[in-house]
Amino acid sequence: MADIIQLLPDSVANQIAAGEVVQRPASAVKELMENALDAGAKSIKLIVKDAGKTLIQVIDNGCGMSETDARMSFERHATSKIRKADDLFAIRTMGFRGEALASIAAIAQVELKTKRIGDEVGVKIEIEGSELKSQEACNAPEGTSISIKNLFYNVPARRNFLKTDSVELRHIIDEFQRVAIPNPEVAFSLHHNNSEIFNLTAGNLKQRLMGIFGNSYNSRLVPVEEDTDIVKIKGFVIKPEFAKKTRGEQFFFLNKRFIKNAYLHHAVQAAFDQLLPNDSFASYFLMLDVNPKTIDINIHPTKTEVKFEDEKAIYAFLRSTVKKSLGQFNIAPSLDFDQEAHLYNMPLKPIDGIIKQPTIKVDPTYNPFKVEKPDFSKNTTDRELSNKSNWEKMYSRHNDNQQHFELKQDEVQQQSIDADWDNELHESNKKITYQLHNRYILSHIKTGFMVIDQQGAHERILYERILASFEKHKSATQQELFPKAIELNAADFALVKELRDDILAIGFDISEFGKNTFVIHGVPADTAQHDSVQLLEGLLENYKQNMMELKSDKRENLARSMAFNTAIKSGKVLTQEEMNNLIDELFACKMPYSTPTGKPTITTFSLEDLDKRFKK
Ligand code: ADP
Ligand code: MG
Repeated sequence: MADIIQLLPDSVANQIAAGEVVQRPASAVKELMENALDAGAKSIKLIVKDAGKTLIQVIDNGCGMSETDARMSFERHATSKIRKADDLFAIRTMGFRGEALASIAAIAQVELKTKRIGDEVGVKIEIEGSELKSQEACNAPEGTSISIKNLFYNVPARRNFLKTDSVELRHIIDEFQRVAIPNPEVAFSLHHNNSEIFNLTAGNLKQRLMGIFGNSYNSRLVPVEEDTDIVKIKGFVIKPEFAKKTRGEQFFFLNKRFIKNAYLHHAVQAAFDQLLPNDSFASYFLMLDVNPKTIDINIHPTKTEVKFEDEKAIYAFLRSTVKKSLGQFNIAPSLDFDQEAHLYNMPLKPIDGIIKQPTIKVDPTYNPFKVEKPDFSKNTTDRELSNKSNWEKMYSRHNDNQQHFELKQDEVQQQSIDADWDNELHESNKKITYQLHNRYILSHIKTGFMVIDQQGAHERILYERILASFEKHKSATQQELFPKAIELNAADFALVKELRDDILAIGFDISEFGKNTFVIHGVPADTAQHDSVQLLEGLLENYKQNMMELKSDKRENLARSMAFNTAIKSGKVLTQEEMNNLIDELFACKMPYSTPTGKPTITTFSLEDLDKRFKK
């Protein structure tokens, strides 16, 4: 029999490699921007069309390439960045594998124009599916411009796998930020479908963060700096009172490379300790610089995890450094942070020797049930009916949506269905509710008792109410006495514009007010106790996170985010009446048994269970 093993043709090998290197437009963006940085560019321009599906172009003013290098750059394992194995342990460049361009060229139509500084003419190369289409001398500015057109044009399965434009664009913006933040001395811009999303001038880290996240960050950032033999730490954390309830902004850069590291995240979170409000996350932008020898360089290009020696020591340094910075910030709230150098030189201990914790604004008088809520959804009779039937469902367990409950078969049979929240027989019991640890509500049911998670239950109630308000196109708005301006970054501004109709339907009253700014004239009627700017920011934050993590349509996502932001929290003391109202409203919901994100809201315990425990 003939031998059957053959070497794969380069174009096939490249396409296989591309599967790992280029997962979506954002991966190509990352590779091209990193190449531009490695080329020493001081200005990098990113242009995308249709979230990168049609075009990704990166224009830099870096060192450019010779004609031969330009051709070579598309070969696999072709790199100018390492020559021998030893070099691997001193990597300071972003790339070194020599795979990116070869991979990208295998799955797209690529046009490269480049000219070295001082050369008279440049070169233009066109490649399509790894095949050279043309190569000619051309007139070009110094530096490199590379266009990737119709990514995955020859791999339809992958092209179909791409998400909606808003999701893919979000990924691109994420990658763009991950490259732009640790390189503030380089100017960056991002254009999408002819509109400018970012235009970041060269400057320092603080200016870069303000350029990306908005000028309001000027007063939110606390500088962090420490220099040790093992690690240099430099960057900013966000003041505790601006902490976000969703994950917030967490950026670690190791030798200018974005990394994720749960262990180090814990160090920062621990440094904030008691300063953060419950269930909030620290936000930070921290550059760690270590000797490349002490990290495992064999990181996959698309992975952001990294292993390094001395992890424990770095944890300890990080934690104490952030703690120290927070302490300094606290004793000097009026300090001008523009004079960063000043702060770095400050003594570690406050003059009076006392380090005070920043206080967190909590409104103890906030009562979510006090405000008269407009009835968004149903008339009373409907609600009553629904309430009653939900109770019955709870007993009969016939509701398909109750996947979250694993009730034992015998339990189901034993629960007779006549119990009812509004049943007079149980009127006396109904009034008896008990709040456990300010988190759970305990109440009688006929066959035992139930426990309701107060926060989850309220999220469910609000979620359904908001969804209903979309149908009606309008809900009650409470006008602000003093309208507030909210300045957003360009990406968020575009998002609010896209969502404006639905945001109005929820009950916000907002209008555009110049560049990247909206004015909030009014907020949904039952949210008046929240700060309007923080409320809208929180809503956006959640929305973006849901957009990336969950498959839900716009309105569902908005309703979920809004419910999350305005629901009463665990820890809130409730009166008898409030608990009863909450239970009433919960059982008036279409789907009372789970939160909008699918966690259970109610669990039940039967007397049988209790009896068994007492060996009766
Ligand atoms: P790597 O970055 O791992 O070396 P790439 O495939 O990304 O591999 O690039 C191959 C080579 O092409 C690089 O090593 C570099 O010499 C050259 N190159 C790529 N992009 C640029 C650019 N924007 N400016 C100058 N040279 C570039
Ligand atoms: Mg590269």
